[in-house]
Amino acid sequence: MKAVFEKARAWIELDEKALRNNIEILRKLLPEGGRLIPAVKANAYGHGNAFITRVMQDAGITDFCVACVDEAVEMRENGIKGDILILGYTNPAQFDLLYKYNLIQTAVDFSYAEEMSKYGKPLRVHIGIDTGMHRLGEPAENIDRLREMFFMENLHTEAALTHLCASDSDAPSDIEFTNMQIDKFYHTIDTLRKEGCEIPKLHLQASYGLLNYSELAADFARVGIAVYGMKTARNDYDKFNTDAELRPVLSLKARVSSVREIKAGESVGYGLAFTAERDMKIAALSIGYADGLPRALSGGVGKVLINGERAPIIGRVCMDQTIVDISGAAEVCAGDTAVIIGKSGNDEISAYEIAEDAGTITNEILSRLGTRLTRVML
Ligand SMILES: *Cc1c(COP(=O)(O)O)cnc(C)c1O
Repeated sequence: MKAVFEKARAWIELDEKALRNNIEILRKLLPEGGRLIPAVKANAYGHGNAFITRVMQDAGITDFCVACVDEAVEMRENGIKGDILILGYTNPAQFDLLYKYNLIQTAVDFSYAEEMSKYGKPLRVHIGIDTGMHRLGEPAENIDRLREMFFMENLHTEAALTHLCASDSDAPSDIEFTNMQIDKFYHTIDTLRKEGCEIPKLHLQASYGLLNYSELAADFARVGIAVYGMKTARNDYDKFNTDAELRPVLSLKARVSSVREIKAGESVGYGLAFTAERDMKIAALSIGYADGLPRALSGGVGKVLINGERAPIIGRVCMDQTIVDISGAAEVCAGDTAVIIGKSGNDEISAYEIAEDAGTITNEILSRLGTRLTRVML
């Protein structure tokens, strides 16, 4: 196993113990009988779907959610047998794949449910209800249309869901909005059930829904970012400080490919964007923006760790390579490891720090980590 990343140019190390820890922490928040159906879309938030689902299955998780049908098909082809819920849109021309691979499709609104019904063969469905996010789901106000969806021919409806879009905040207005969404969801479900709709299961919580509204009655929690041991942003609301116990699963590392000295006045990289003010030592790293290292980290914005020392990125991040200033680091040689996300010596660069430097959230940094990276579960 070690050999895998000894050869790699850039790689991800996955911490199996951290993943198992996070699963246990989140499970404790579930109501009696509730289950995690982790979001493993976007290659399990960049971690590597096959690695992550293998450990999750070993930890007793059977069911998953993804964003699109291709992700679901790939998981089936990798031998995942449990339920796979597609949260996003599947083109009606691909309904055959839903049927063939026994996948569950979210009915994203009324007319989409009609399309599904027209397919002519039974399809497994979770009905989406829009309670205020206004992205997917039939608006909760449209009770007549919602009722009709439950009785459509060929739709095998197994659950209803909604999505909370402000549950990551403790601003009073956001808490009020979230409580409105929650009330609207349960009220809609009650009304539909009274009108004869059979709704076997319910779910409404993603990571923050579970962390901050863990008291809700639901059958599934669609946890994404939290199961990978992160919040979306460092200071996001976390009612019970659960994140103190969550541990990041992923570290990102790259090989030092070349070390050189440059003289004051010499420039570095594309566009000669960096010019040395003094003689200095620099290193090229074999990772670039095509691997998911944001180009926004160019020009000293981002740093990496080499042998426990911080080395600022100089010049522009390239597609496949990045140049760093190692003047402040002890002896660095080609073949050494640069830590982009993770610990080195006594220092650590977290996905929070990268996200903040790049002006985005951890979800984006992680989910964009490329397929070219070698992944290894430790
Ligand atoms: C991506 C997604 C999730 C998981 O979200 P996290 O905030 O990462 O936990 C849950 N539900 C839906 C509908 C999603 O699109």
